[in-house]
Amino acid sequence: MPAPAFHRLSRKSRTLDTTLGPHPAVGPCPAAAMALSASALPAAGNPSYADARPTMGIPSFAEARSARGIPSDAAVRPTGGIPSDARGRSCDPSVRLMAGFLSLIALALVGCASPASAQRRAPAEAPGPPEMTIVPDPLDRGSPGRVILKGVGLDAAPRGVFDGKPVFFFETAEGLTGIFGADIMIGLGDHPLEVSWKGDSPGRLGSAVTVRDRDYGTRSITVPRGQVELSRADQERAAREKVLTDRALATVTPERLWRGAFLEPVDAAINSSFGRKTRMNGVLNPRPHAGADYLAKEGAQVRAPADGVVILAGNHFFAGNSIYVDHGQGLVSMYFHLSEILVEEGQHLKKGDIPIGLVGKTGRVTGAHLHYGVYLNGARIDPSVFRKLTSTLREQ
Ligand SMILES: [Zn+2]
Repeated sequence: MPAPAFHRLSRKSRTLDTTLGPHPAVGPCPAAAMALSASALPAAGNPSYADARPTMGIPSFAEARSARGIPSDAAVRPTGGIPSDARGRSCDPSVRLMAGFLSLIALALVGCASPASAQRRAPAEAPGPPEMTIVPDPLDRGSPGRVILKGVGLDAAPRGVFDGKPVFFFETAEGLTGIFGADIMIGLGDHPLEVSWKGDSPGRLGSAVTVRDRDYGTRSITVPRGQVELSRADQERAAREKVLTDRALATVTPERLWRGAFLEPVDAAINSSFGRKTRMNGVLNPRPHAGADYLAKEGAQVRAPADGVVILAGNHFFAGNSIYVDHGQGLVSMYFHLSEILVEEGQHLKKGDIPIGLVGKTGRVTGAHLHYGVYLNGARIDPSVFRKLTSTLREQ
């Protein structure tokens, strides 16, 4: 928007205060849209922005204007009675100029760069009492779930807790969305999920997540005795490596690095899915398979399924050549049994970067494959279910 146009809007707005009430009908609304849209304003007949404050925790326009030295009598009032087009914009050019100016303030408030992004944010800021929904309900053990929060803005810094782990929120078309994980070994039944927020109207909501069992099946494999009955040296090595991997899996970077649908880590089919229990050399291991095994050929290229940072890369007794990637906010993915590691710790990865490593058969394996795992704040979740979830998010 050129500067002169903005000044013209500013001057106009100060003379329009008394025109914002009921307004006589005006001529047909031109189809051409103004550069500035009034879509950030409440639609005619809806509660005013200020009315919505008790549940939103966002400064009112009036407060923002006051802070900018604009007289308080220029407060926004509902635009009931003014004809509007399909997008809720007033058809009166003078009112639309006013609305355009207010949009500029609104955009500055929410930190947006364009009217289009203000439109996309509208669902998360819709007035209404705060409410939350758990999807799906019930939730399978070993699956990620979503909590959808309405009536609370991101600027109120909502934060959830599930199973003692944090839940972070981001904007989607349905409202704010947080993703949490029901660990593969979590107890069945109800688990509390609580959300609290700050801002002008702090509050909290609680709900129960019902976790149900899922039969992931059992597999039988045979491995060399030396990989089951560990020597003292191997036990000590595995214990040292567990300290490193536990630390990597406990990483909770405040910033969310990933966005959009996760990609498959390799072009191959899954031959041993997540959650299966393993009968190893005839003995049932009570620990279920914490990832998905892709039946890829040795040397196949492994790709980064999403943006992230390599937080651990090295050769480990069980996992062989391994890469751990932090995607932010407690989400960590891992790639085991590689023949080669082609990234370094601290390296930033972009979604689709390939190859980050090559498929191999290092560590405790029966043959070449890629073990791919996804942990969310320590919860072991099914990577395939998680990938599907990320493909359905309508992010803002
Ligand atoms: Zn595996």
